[in-house]
Amino acid sequence: KRNVLIIGAGGVAQVVAHKCAQHNDILGNIHIASRTVEKCQQIVDSVREKGSLKTAGELQAHALDALDIEATKALIAETQSQLVINVGSPFINMSVLQACIETGAAYLDTAIHEDPGKICETPPWYANYEWKRRELCEENKVTAILGVGFDPGVVNAYAALGMDYFDSVSDIDIIDINAGDHGHYFATNFDPEINFREFTGRVWSWQNRQWVQNKMFEIKRTDDLPVVGKRTSYMTGHDELHSLSKNLDVPNIRFWMGFGDHYINVFTVLNSLGLLSEQPVTTAEGLEVVPLKVVKAVLPDPASLAPNYTGKTCIGDILKGKKDGKDKEIFIYNVADHKEAYEEVGSQGISYTAGVPPVAAAILIAQGVWDVQKMVNVEELDCKPFINLLNDIGLPTRIKDEEGDRPLSY
Ligand code: NDP
Repeated sequence: KRNVLIIGAGGVAQVVAHKCAQHNDILGNIHIASRTVEKCQQIVDSVREKGSLKTAGELQAHALDALDIEATKALIAETQSQLVINVGSPFINMSVLQACIETGAAYLDTAIHEDPGKICETPPWYANYEWKRRELCEENKVTAILGVGFDPGVVNAYAALGMDYFDSVSDIDIIDINAGDHGHYFATNFDPEINFREFTGRVWSWQNRQWVQNKMFEIKRTDDLPVVGKRTSYMTGHDELHSLSKNLDVPNIRFWMGFGDHYINVFTVLNSLGLLSEQPVTTAEGLEVVPLKVVKAVLPDPASLAPNYTGKTCIGDILKGKKDGKDKEIFIYNVADHKEAYEEVGSQGISYTAGVPPVAAAILIAQGVWDVQKMVNVEELDCKPFINLLNDIGLPTRIKDEEGDRPLSY
C-alpha cells in the first residue's frame, strides 16, 4: 500500500507529515487535509523548508470537512491514498473510518472516537464506536489500526511485549510524565477542549478484572523514574485500558499521568468555578458563551509552545508479576526531548511521541508486515517490528529490570 492522506493539521499532524516525508520512498505521495487549508499549507511549507522529503514526490494541502464521508471518500480516491492517518480531532474518527471502509484504504488513528455531547462513556470505550465496525472491516478486508500514537499506541506494544518476561502478570501501570517546561503560567499541551475532557469526567481503571470508578486527582503515586527522577502521577482514565483489559490476561491495568501542584491548583480553580463547563451561560449583557471556549481562547495556543519547550518526557509501562515462582518487576519506556523534537520537525515532544508511531505503523502496513486486513488494537499485532522501527526513526525503547537499564530491540 502507498500514498498517505493525513487528516488534521494540528501539532501531531505536523510530526506525521515530517516523518512521512522522511520515508516517502516507502510511503509514496503525501496529502494533508483539514478544515482550514492554510494550516495544511503551513505544514507543507515547513516540510519543504526543513528539506524533510527523502525523494522527490507529491506533497499537497487540501481543504476537507472529514465529517462529510462522501467528501472524504472523494479525496481518498482523487489522491489515490491507500493509507489514511487520522490525526484530526477525535470527533471525526467514525466518519473517516467509514470512508476508509468504503474505499478500502487502511485506517490509522491515535485516539478513541468521542461524541462532542458525551463526557466519559461506559467502558470499554472502543465498544461504543470503533469495535462496532470490526466485522465490516473484516468483510471489506480493511486494515484499521486503532490508537497507534504513544499512549494509546506504543504503551500497548510495551504491555504486550512485557508479558513475555513473566509467567503471569498481575499489574500493568502505564505512567506518562512530561517533565518539560513551556515557560507559561498555565497552558495545555493539546487542544484545551480535548485535554480537559480527560480530567473532568470519571476516572475508569481496570482492577481485579472489573471497571472501577474514581475521581480525578483522587489517587496518586510517586515513582523514581529514569532521566526525569522522582515524579508524582495521578490515576487518570485513558483509552488504552479499554482494549488492554480485553486483550491481555491481566487483572489490574491502570493509567497514571504526571501533574505538578501548580497545574492541579489552576485546574481545580477553573473547574470549581465552572469555567471548564461546555454548557453555555448567559452574561448580564445577554451574551451567550461557553465557559470552556472562553478559557481556550485566553490560553496559549498549544502549537505556540513548541519553540521554547525544554526538558524531557518519560512514558512507559511498569509490569509486575511472577517468573519462576518469584516476584518480578520491569519498566519498559521511552524518553523524548522537547527541544530535539522541535529541531527535527518543528513540534514539541508530546506531539512528537504521538506523531511518530502512526507513521511507523503506516510503514509496516506499506511493507505488508502489518497489513492485517481487519480492525485491531496495537497489542493484537506482532509488536516486535514496531519497536525495532521506532528505535530507528526517533523513539528508542529501553527496558529496566533486575539486569539493569538498557536499550530494547528484537
Ligand atoms: P489539534 O487540535 O491541534 O488538531 C486537530 C486538527 O483536526 C485540526 O487541524 C482541525 O482542523 C482538524 N479537524 C477537526 N475537525 C475536523 C473536521 N471535521 N474535518 C477535518 N479536520 C478537522 O490536535 P492534535 O494535533 O493535538 O492531536 C491530534 C489527535 O491526536 C487528537 O485526536 C488527539 O487526541 C490525538 N493524540 C494522541 C496521542 C497519543 O499518544 N495517542 C497524544 C496526543 C494527541 P482545523 O485546522 O480546521 O481546526
